[in-house]
Amino acid sequence: MAQRPDIIVVTDLAKSFGDNRVLRDVDLTIKEGEVVAIIGPSGAGKSTFLRCLNKLEDVTSGHVVVNGHDLTSKETDLDAVRQDIGMVFQHFNLFPHMSVLENVMLAPVELRRGPKDEIRRQAMALLARVGLEEKADARPAQLSGGQKQRVAIARALAMKPEIMLFDEATSALDPEMVGEVLEVIRTLADQGMTMVLVTHEMGFAREVADRVVFMADGVIKEQGSPEEIFDRPQDPRTQDFLSKVL
Ligand code: ADP
Ligand code: MG
Repeated sequence: MAQRPDIIVVTDLAKSFGDNRVLRDVDLTIKEGEVVAIIGPSGAGKSTFLRCLNKLEDVTSGHVVVNGHDLTSKETDLDAVRQDIGMVFQHFNLFPHMSVLENVMLAPVELRRGPKDEIRRQAMALLARVGLEEKADARPAQLSGGQKQRVAIARALAMKPEIMLFDEATSALDPEMVGEVLEVIRTLADQGMTMVLVTHEMGFAREVADRVVFMADGVIKEQGSPEEIFDRPQDPRTQDFLSKVL
């Protein structure tokens, strides 16, 4: 993986909300095709960090460079950068009054990414990819949580992003639906998508991640291969966290 280009370069990132210093001294470089899992206790700053990667949050100081674009520079076209990055959240936020297919087609149609027939064809192909072709005409309310989350993933993929961010994509699901969503994420990993996953699924992180990052109190305490972090954690905070969740 060493020869692949860097696609995300975060240097000396800090983020505060008022007096609350939520992130500090964060340095992280991610290579094209790399899968990075971020783990850590609630309140560590994991979601805030992900949101800084597509400028859903303004950073307080430091630099975030995505695909060569410095998100902290005023000249950067943020819409263009955001189109390179798909994001999937804990809650799916599908539009209830639209069909599954219309939800997936919405962004490419609005951004005029091509003829509508072609966008529809690609949206159907994405629904097939997440195993939901036969639900194209259903409304979100007719789907299970796992199915909704798979639609949300297809919707994010519809913009043909180079990077996918997942913020606890399976945390709101009933246990029996977690597997089908992880399976879709695993397939994306196998296909070479660059991904940053905030997850509580430690077994999954161990299996799919190239690298695991442990965050606590707004800093990266430790990072390494899944074996290094899960089998030989060095930092006492990592050891303590893993002893509670594994
Ligand atoms: P995690 O995802 O690791 O649980 P978060 O990034 O959600 O952590 O939150 C880290 C800290 O930032 C928490 O103390 C939280 O209250 C605070 N925080 C997050 N978002 C905001 C916001 N929009 N305004 C003020 N404080 C926030
Ligand atoms: Mg969070």
